[in-house]
Amino acid sequence: MLRLTDITLPLDHAPAHLDAAVCARLDIAPADLERVTVFRRGNDARRKNAIKLVYALDVIVRDEADVLARFAGDPHVKPTPDTAYKFVARAPEGWDGPRPVVIGAGPCGLLAALVLAQMGLKPIIIERGKAVRERTKDTWGLWRRSVLDPESNVQYGEGGAGTFSDGKLYSRIKDPRHLSRKVLTEFVKAGAPDDILTEAHPHIGTFRLVTMVMSMRETIERLGGEYRFGTRVEDFAIGEDAHGQRRIEGLHLSSGDYLEARHVIMAVGHSARDTFEVLHARGVYMEAKPFAIGVRIEHPQSWIDKARYGACAGHPILGAAAYSISHKASNGRTVYSFCMCPGGRVVAAASEEGRVVTNGMSQYSRAELNANSGLVVDVSPETDFPGNPLAGIALQRKLEELAFVAGGSNYQAPGQKLGDFLADRPSTALGSVTPSYQPGVHLTDLKQCLPDYAVEAIREALPVFGRQVPGYDHPDVVMTGVETRTSSPVRITRGRDFQSLNTRGLYPAGEGAGYAGGILSAAVDGIRLAEALALELVGPQA
Ligand SMILES: Cc1cc2nc3c(=O)[nH]c(=O)nc-3n(C[C@H](O)[C@H](O)[C@H](O)COP(=O)(O)OP(=O)(O)OC[C@H]3O[C@@H](n4cnc5c(N)ncnc54)[C@H](O)[C@@H]3O)c2cc1C
Repeated sequence: MLRLTDITLPLDHAPAHLDAAVCARLDIAPADLERVTVFRRGNDARRKNAIKLVYALDVIVRDEADVLARFAGDPHVKPTPDTAYKFVARAPEGWDGPRPVVIGAGPCGLLAALVLAQMGLKPIIIERGKAVRERTKDTWGLWRRSVLDPESNVQYGEGGAGTFSDGKLYSRIKDPRHLSRKVLTEFVKAGAPDDILTEAHPHIGTFRLVTMVMSMRETIERLGGEYRFGTRVEDFAIGEDAHGQRRIEGLHLSSGDYLEARHVIMAVGHSARDTFEVLHARGVYMEAKPFAIGVRIEHPQSWIDKARYGACAGHPILGAAAYSISHKASNGRTVYSFCMCPGGRVVAAASEEGRVVTNGMSQYSRAELNANSGLVVDVSPETDFPGNPLAGIALQRKLEELAFVAGGSNYQAPGQKLGDFLADRPSTALGSVTPSYQPGVHLTDLKQCLPDYAVEAIREALPVFGRQVPGYDHPDVVMTGVETRTSSPVRITRGRDFQSLNTRGLYPAGEGAGYAGGILSAAVDGIRLAEALALELVGPQA
C-alpha cells in the first residue's frame, strides 16, 4: 500500500475526483488503481475564496514497485507506514506478581491502565474524584448553583481535566511509534466518533468523552483492572532498596487504607497541588516549570468563521473555524491563544475554594454562539517565581484568589469588555457579545487580577490580532478571568527509564509531571510509562 500526501481538491469536489486525482498524480490508468482510502483530511484556508481540502490517502495500485521506482525521492509518495501497535511486554499466563498502581484516571492514567491491563498486569487505578456520571453532577453544581466540590469538579474525577472540554486531539509530539494512533483507535473502540482517525484537527466534544471513558473503564475492569474512586493518595511511603536507593513502597489513601505499591504510575494532572506539596515534602525531586497566565476571550463564532473562511463560512465540511495566534510583546512577553474552543463556552474550572479559574469546552457539534480561547502570557521560574519548586503554584493561587474577589466572592468570574480593557477603565455594561461563563460574569476591571506585565502585553497584542483576524479587537468582545491552569507549574523529573530521578518505582507521567500538554500527548505518555513499568516488572515480550 502507498501513502500519498498533499493531494489537494476544491472544497465541493465530487467523491470520484479523489480517484482521478490519484491517477493524475501517479500517472496511472484508472484500471491500475485498486483502492483509495482517506487516511487524513485537512483544509487549506490561506486563500479564503479558494479553500482547498488537503488529503493523505492510502492507495493500492496494480504495480506498486513501478510506482515507487518512478517516484523515488518524492516525499509525498511513500510506502504506507505500519502504524499497528505492538506490545513490548506481556504478563506470563496466570500472573500473580505485584500489581502496578496508576494514580489518576485522566487521559494519561487511562491509557496507562488500559495498556497495562491489555498486557495482563491487572492495574489498580486510584482516582480522588468520582466516576464520571456523579462527577458531571458535581461539576454542574458549580456551574448552576455556585457550589464547588473540591474533590469532584472540572479538574478532578474520572476522565481527568479534559472530560469537560472540546476534546481537541492533536499535538506536536514526536511519535515515531505512532502511539497516538493507538490512542485514537482505542478512543474510537470506546465510542469516540470515527472521524477522529481521519480529520487533521479531530475533536470529540464533552458528551462523547463522558461515554468514552466509561466504556474504557469497562474494558479495563474486564481485563482484571480495579478502580478506586473518591480515593486520594495522601502520602507516599518511601524506603530504601537493597542498593541503598530510595524506592516507593506504598501509598497512604484518604480511605485510611495503606496500599503496598512498588510500581506506581503517577498521572495526577496539573492541578494536584496538595499532592505536589506532599511529594516535595517526601524529597521526590522536582523543579518549577514555565507555564502561562491570562484570560479567556470570547467572540461571536460567526465573526471568526467569516474572518477565517470568508464566503465559505458555515460550509458543513469546514464547521466552526478555529484560530491560533501569537505575538511577541515589546516587554519581552509572548501573548498567544491557548486551547481555542470553537462554538463552545467558557467554563468554571476551579478546584479550590475561594478561587476562580477559567477554561473552555465545546460539544462535538461546536454549535454554540461564541468562540472562546485562552489569551495568555508566558511566565517562568527565573523571571516570575524564583525560589522553591512550588512557587508557581503560589502565583496561580494568588491570581485565582484575586479573581474570586473581583468576581464578587461567589464563584462568578470577573469580566471586562475589550474596549474598556484597552481604555483602562472598568466595564459597567455589556455590548453585543454575551459571555458564556456560568455561574455568571461580574463586570469590572481585569487588571486587578493580572500582573502588570500581562496587562501590558495583552493590550499591545490585541490590535495586532485585530489585523490578523478582522473583528478580533472589537470593543464589545468580552474577556473573563483568570486562566491559570495552562500547564503544570512543576516538573517531577524522570530519568531515561521514566522513573523519578531519585525515587525508584515511581513513574511521573502526563501533564502533572510536566511531560505532556493536552489529551493526546498525555495519553501517549501514559502508554510510554506503562511500557517502561511493564518491562521493569516482567521483562520484554518473548
Ligand atoms: C476545561 C478544560 C478543557 C480542556 N480542553 C482540552 C482540549 O480540548 N484538548 C486537549 O488536548 N486538552 C484539553 N485540556 C487539557 C487536558 O485536559 C489535559 O492536558 C489532560 O487532561 C492531561 O491529562 P493527565 O491524565 O496528565 O491529567 P488530568 O487529566 O489532569 O488527570 C489527573 C487525574 O488525577 C487525579 N488525581 C490528582 N491527584 C490525585 C491524588 N492525589 N490521588 C488520586 N487521584 C488524583 C485527578 O482527579 C484527575 O482525574 C483541557 C483542560 C481543561 C481543564
